[in-house]
Amino acid sequence: MSTHFHIAVLEGDGIGPEVVAEGVKVLRTVAARLAGVAFAFTAYSVGAGEYRRHGDPLPAATLESLRGADAILLGAMGLPDVRWPNGVEMTPQIDLREKLDLYSGVRPIRLYDEAHSPLRGYSANGTGRHIDFVIVRENCEGLFSERLTPRPAGRDFESDTLKITRRGAERICREAFKLARRRRKHCTLVDKANVLPSMAYFRRIFDEVARDYPDVTTDRVYVDAMALYLVQRPDSFDVMVTENMFGDILSDLGAGLIGGMGLAPSADIGDDHAVFQPSHGTAPTIAGRGIANPIATILSVAMLLEWLDHPETVRGARLIERAVENVLADPANRTADLGGVVSTAGMGNLVCQALS
Ligand code: ATP
Repeated sequence: MSTHFHIAVLEGDGIGPEVVAEGVKVLRTVAARLAGVAFAFTAYSVGAGEYRRHGDPLPAATLESLRGADAILLGAMGLPDVRWPNGVEMTPQIDLREKLDLYSGVRPIRLYDEAHSPLRGYSANGTGRHIDFVIVRENCEGLFSERLTPRPAGRDFESDTLKITRRGAERICREAFKLARRRRKHCTLVDKANVLPSMAYFRRIFDEVARDYPDVTTDRVYVDAMALYLVQRPDSFDVMVTENMFGDILSDLGAGLIGGMGLAPSADIGDDHAVFQPSHGTAPTIAGRGIANPIATILSVAMLLEWLDHPETVRGARLIERAVENVLADPANRTADLGGVVSTAGMGNLVCQALS
């Protein structure tokens, strides 16, 4: 008898539908190679487009349905010209993290081809220096914590609060240490503990949690210095844990190191639910042209399969990663962001061919 997994699919806005189509195509292809597991997909309309049509970017009924899914695959959400009256964009993907308590933002940064990086001297495989680290971003508090708090009108200032709770810091640090244990056993705290009391508190909790993982080595780096080190010596990092906004910024920097947003997958994981999506946004300037790179979404599908934690889905995750490695090993297989001519669908097809 097969184990059935129900996958909720949220294409979203901009390039979301284009890259999600390739992610689903790859998931269906790999599923055919797995024994004893079956997938059912249900699509839901969420995002700026849904707001335009019905006035709510994340309808309550949809949220309830998402709670029943085994995993959620998301494209990208928000459009620059669809905004709330206070001027900020629709961000249902951030609302989802908070409502489903997806506190752990896992963002692997791995170089697949030397030529993709603006840095010199980093190889994808074999000998030499590698770029292969994971940013673990706290997703539910930090500088985003008061973003939805109503503000009195007419003030001549606005402020945002960087809130760190013991519970929030402890659980994200624990996730980072657990991940480091499965990798090269090194965990770096990225903070601003020299200036901000909230960050000094985060550091105290990191140090407490570190005592439970004596086999994992640690270091502590200020976020401004980390921006420098990521360019100078990205190979010296394994897992890094940080607050919400710092993680947001550093994951784009990390994506830049490996060839751009089209190559950077992510997972937003809680204790009961998880959303898998490329790290990138809706890229409205290239939407609808069939040129977006779907690799970030395809690698997010691999993360989804790994998270489902069935021996066959975990095998599927490895098959997708290997297929992506094989496809990207050929310099002819490049989408426009990497200087090539392969279309979004063409790249999805190449990964499917490599799988079969
Ligand atoms: P958000 O704030 O929602 O994260 P953003 O404004 O930071 O979004 P993105 O939409 O992530 O921006 O795009 C950043 C840059 O990367 C843009 O130049 C965009 O065209 C490019 N980009 C993003 N995703 C892809 C992709 N899948 N393929 C090719 N280029 C991409």
